[in-house]
Amino acid sequence: MTTTASQLPLLLEEIEVVGVERLSPSFVRVEFGSPALADLGVDGPLYDQRIKLIFPNAAGRLPSFEGADESWWESWMQIPEEDRGPMRTYTVRELRGTSADTRLVVDFVIHGDGDASGPGGDWAAHAAVGQRVITMAPRRGVPFGGIEFAPGTAKRLLLVGDETAVPAVAAVLECLPATSRGAVFLEVPVAADVLLLDCPSGVEVHWLPRDGAPRSAALHTAVLEHLGEEPTAPVVDEVDPDLWETPTYSSSGEDIDTPVRVIGHEYDDLYAWIAGESKMVTGLRRALVKDLGIDRHQVAFMGYWRVGVAMRS
Ligand SMILES: Cc1cc2nc3c(=O)[nH]c(=O)nc-3n(C[C@H](O)[C@H](O)[C@H](O)COP(=O)(O)OP(=O)(O)OC[C@H]3O[C@@H](n4cnc5c(N)ncnc54)[C@H](O)[C@@H]3O)c2cc1C
Repeated sequence: MTTTASQLPLLLEEIEVVGVERLSPSFVRVEFGSPALADLGVDGPLYDQRIKLIFPNAAGRLPSFEGADESWWESWMQIPEEDRGPMRTYTVRELRGTSADTRLVVDFVIHGDGDASGPGGDWAAHAAVGQRVITMAPRRGVPFGGIEFAPGTAKRLLLVGDETAVPAVAAVLECLPATSRGAVFLEVPVAADVLLLDCPSGVEVHWLPRDGAPRSAALHTAVLEHLGEEPTAPVVDEVDPDLWETPTYSSSGEDIDTPVRVIGHEYDDLYAWIAGESKMVTGLRRALVKDLGIDRHQVAFMGYWRVGVAMRS
């Protein structure tokens, strides 16, 4: 049976740029509007809620999902890659307003030219009011997934990310109870990318601008020092660009049911959430899980992107 996209269990809707704000050299905040966003939302805190955006193809056109039914994904994937428009993953930085005036706010990283450029970053660098994209996002009242932050009963938090994870960390911090305790380590391209974050007083935020230094070295050291460990250089033999190791999912096929640590470990009260460039995340995963023996059920390790690899639609 053919249904309209408005009857799908998720939102698959064209949305329009209604505001653009350059936050810093590397971040641009884009506010999207559409009457369809009235149905956007989750039942509970947004935390690191992810969504997908489809950008216009090279001819400047978006695919049409009018009349889309449950097979929309297969139908869309059958369109030649150059025509269907690139899809990329982003975080809901904020939802503003209500009903038909709901606004979806996304903070994009502007990430360069040549090999380091991609359709998402390029689109964001030139975003202007009136431009349109398609979002695939949660419909309120319907399970969608896409939230990984799940600290359970942990008493201290460790949030680690590079610039692509700054929007997720900022959104998570805004959702935390005022009594939360922990530390945040955020690596950004330059000092001028340090943003003001709204967070509980018991959570320390450490910004680590690279300012031309190599990616992730200082971040890796800072996290190990924070855990009271002797910093060692990251050991990374192989990098899975799709690295996604959470308490409920393992991209490497690890056993997610059996705890690897016995109770009584010194990090028992810790929950760590680590996201960003896959090599950085891989190095920290090895240090935390293999070297320090932290139970993988207490950590979410997420490769948000990989140097030299374009995200697949
Ligand atoms: C769950 C999740 C949430 C995310 N949330 C956000 C978000 O809120 N804001 C955001 O900006 N990104 C976010 N990202 C990361 C974003 O999806 C990737 O950076 C994506 O590759 C951008 O697509 P693109 O078309 O610009 O580049 P692609 O076409 O994917 O890649 C082209 C080239 O650009 C390089 N590249 C991609 N990203 C970067 C970067 N940040 N710095 C340097 N080089 C890069 C690639 O290595 C490749 O060589 C998120 C990713 C995930 C998985």
